[in-house]
Amino acid sequence: MRRISIFGATGSIGQNTIDLIARAPDAYRVVALTGGQNIAQLARDARRLKAEIAVTADETLLDALRDALADSGVEAAAGRAALVEAATRPADWVMSAIVGAAGLEPGLRALEQGADLALANKESMVCAGPLMLRTARAHGGRLLPVDSEHSAVFQALIGEDLSAVERVIITASGGAFRDWPLEDLEKATPEQAATHPNWDMGQRITIDSASMFNKALELIETREFFGIDPAMIETVVHPESMIHALVGFNDGALMAHVGPPDMRHAIGFALHYPDRQTLPVERLDLVKLGQLTFRPACETRWPALRLAREVMQAGGLMGAVFNAAKEEALTAFIARQITFPRMAGIVEDVLTRLSSHAGHNVDAITLDMVAEVDHLARVAARTVITGQA
Ligand code: NDP
Repeated sequence: MRRISIFGATGSIGQNTIDLIARAPDAYRVVALTGGQNIAQLARDARRLKAEIAVTADETLLDALRDALADSGVEAAAGRAALVEAATRPADWVMSAIVGAAGLEPGLRALEQGADLALANKESMVCAGPLMLRTARAHGGRLLPVDSEHSAVFQALIGEDLSAVERVIITASGGAFRDWPLEDLEKATPEQAATHPNWDMGQRITIDSASMFNKALELIETREFFGIDPAMIETVVHPESMIHALVGFNDGALMAHVGPPDMRHAIGFALHYPDRQTLPVERLDLVKLGQLTFRPACETRWPALRLAREVMQAGGLMGAVFNAAKEEALTAFIARQITFPRMAGIVEDVLTRLSSHAGHNVDAITLDMVAEVDHLARVAARTVITGQA
């Protein structure tokens, strides 16, 4: 039986992962399930899957979790340290699906115990790509992309020579405000931003899709994951979200990964890699689909894309700065402290203030260095947000 842990089990990716695991209960032994606020869901799944331990990131919810797990035989724990401890428990395959930079350390610890890490948490690669790759190499675990775009690139590259790649095209739906007049964005609310035309995802990533900060993170993730030159990474708006990414080779071939927007494909691919197994996802009817459309990704509408290119050029720890500033700006937008377009301005301001973190020797990056820069960027972002600068 394969030993499985799911970090961020109560979220959108976590629930899709559980959907797949629960279909083959005899194939898996669940070690750890973790969540945050959603204790009822966490306890329900931990009981159903007979997990060894359930952990909530919120220490104040320990009693609630204990009560919900009473007489179940599932261990209950809470807090950051418990989360990290759970990641050190031996497992063969670990899903990293906590949202934000909070997902970095559990993922690293899982890699350190030699697990294969299915990486939905794109922030890990954005903040600490070289550290993630180095840790996986050192301990023999595999890093498997779960972001649909990166899973698509990964699949297109199987059996290929990376030196034959000319370009990688990451598609973007354009999110909730794709067709809004630019002047209306000032009035956009968090609720409006949190509705996605095609994908059913967590609140934060859905708002990041509307601002294209999600795509910006994905461009950086592409660079880090596959070692692709930033100049070879492109974005195109593809409203139907059927093509997830394309890889162009030096003979002119362009390999596209096409499928309905259902994360269970990418999760299932990572779960069964290197094999392919039957997955419960819709099969495409191309005739019914009729046509696929594409538009340029406008950097006036989505300045996050320009910022991502600048971050990739700057290198060093600027990915960690970018992500932390983005997380703080997003939190402020959700709390209605700032307008939707202001998020990009805040991130740009923080990038300028902390530009000295560019160009570090990436081989020497440690978790402590990333944590320090993350902290500095959050303080700087909050200073900008509250106008104290
Ligand atoms: P959700 O918001 O749906 O879920 C996030 C999960 O993380 C929940 O289990 C949540 O617990 C938990 N969590 C939240 N904050 C913390 C914290 N500080 N410490 C520990 N756990 C925490 O997010 P998604 O599932 O949408 O996304 C998860 C990750 O996957 C993100 O990095 C996202 O970018 C990436 N991703 C998501 C895709 C999608 O389709 N959803 C597609 C590709 C990538 P609780 O809910 O109990 O509070």
